[in-house]
Amino acid sequence: MSGNEQAFARARAVIPGGVSSPVRAFGAVRGTPVFVTRAEGPYVYDVDDRQYVDLVGSWGPALLGHARPEVVEAVRVAAGRGLSFGAPTLAEAELAELVRERVPLAEKVRFVSTGTEACMTAVRLARGATRRDVIVKFAGCYHGHSDALLAAAGSGVATAGLPGSAGVPAAATAQTLVVPYNDPHALREVFAARGDEIAAVITEPAAANMGVVPPEPGFNAILRDITTRHGALLIYDEVLTGFRVSRSGWWGLEHAGVSPDLFTFGKVVGGGMPLAALGGRAELMDLLAPLGPVYQAGTLSGNPLATAAGIATLKLADAAVYERVDSAAARLGDEVSAALTRAGVVHRLQRAGSLFSVFWGVDRAVRDYASAQRQHTGVYTAFFHAMLDAGIALPPSAYEAWFVSATHDDAVLDRIVEALPAAARAAAEASA
Ligand SMILES: *Cc1c(COP(=O)(O)O)cnc(C)c1O
Repeated sequence: MSGNEQAFARARAVIPGGVSSPVRAFGAVRGTPVFVTRAEGPYVYDVDDRQYVDLVGSWGPALLGHARPEVVEAVRVAAGRGLSFGAPTLAEAELAELVRERVPLAEKVRFVSTGTEACMTAVRLARGATRRDVIVKFAGCYHGHSDALLAAAGSGVATAGLPGSAGVPAAATAQTLVVPYNDPHALREVFAARGDEIAAVITEPAAANMGVVPPEPGFNAILRDITTRHGALLIYDEVLTGFRVSRSGWWGLEHAGVSPDLFTFGKVVGGGMPLAALGGRAELMDLLAPLGPVYQAGTLSGNPLATAAGIATLKLADAAVYERVDSAAARLGDEVSAALTRAGVVHRLQRAGSLFSVFWGVDRAVRDYASAQRQHTGVYTAFFHAMLDAGIALPPSAYEAWFVSATHDDAVLDRIVEALPAAARAAAEASA
């Protein structure tokens, strides 16, 4: 047994599936997960000290590369001063200022520990502010695992949300309406029927949890327009895109000038530590406790180690970092698509800023969850394992974006590119 196999057996005996978050178990691609002992720059190392080029990047946070010395040092210094106080710190104000500088619409910011909490709180705040109960979300968009937002199903016109998990009472998702992404017509129908009950539309302004599905031109502006006309709020869930696709996230890339009421952030904002945030107009944010009637709290919220990592990360994420991440993603996407085409693998590569993913066995634009689900994930399984055997760690699901960092330089990309022809042949065989 390899070190990873032994580790997996040991972990499975005491942890359900051997993992603390399901996708890590490799269920979608089968085989044995890589048990990581350490990471540095663009690399992760497994229990046998085998090195892999990492294209998971902790699912987004590792914008600067793993274990960037200045970030690690900031956390070390913070740790020396105490791990948690349960009292306010000036570091929280500093991080909130850094967020607002990049996203001025986030006039005030509240820190929490996970993206799940940020989205759950944003929804509660929207309901409290509007005194309405109904939430509209899009099929295939992920907003964490709180009950009300686990309604992911839905086809055609709006369906009252069906729970996406056992243990979620139907009542918890009954007020969640799910509509197809990039479908203004379905959205208009929902608002025509129930507009005066809708508290908010929550969206990934560029969807990246059903594979990468960018918004069609004008789609986010339509969301803004229809919510405004019906007195509902618009929530941009930028937990994945925030501070990654540009210094100001997807909002900063959009030229349409869409102004959402609330944002949620996570992943990069915590620099790899458990920290997330929601932000928005001051008068809305002030509805949160202690100033307002909408309750939210957290023993570890604004944790000093996490806050230190976030501050260090945002300070280091300068124009050069975004240029490097953009160009690495652009080159890698081109090389992957070219290798697949040469091997005759039908695919569609989609991008949203520096995020990209491949849909396997489809050759038309993927614009919503239904079309994303038409892909052949078995083709990816073959590709994934060929890459892993060559020392390249891709996300263990075809529905995830590939993440590069500022440390993915040309030499690192060359190593990935070298592994592509054999993996593309494996994918071609699996397509046959
Ligand atoms: C990751 C993610 C979340 C959930 O964040 P967690 O920290 O995993 O709870 C919410 N929304 C989006 C868009 C995400 O990508």
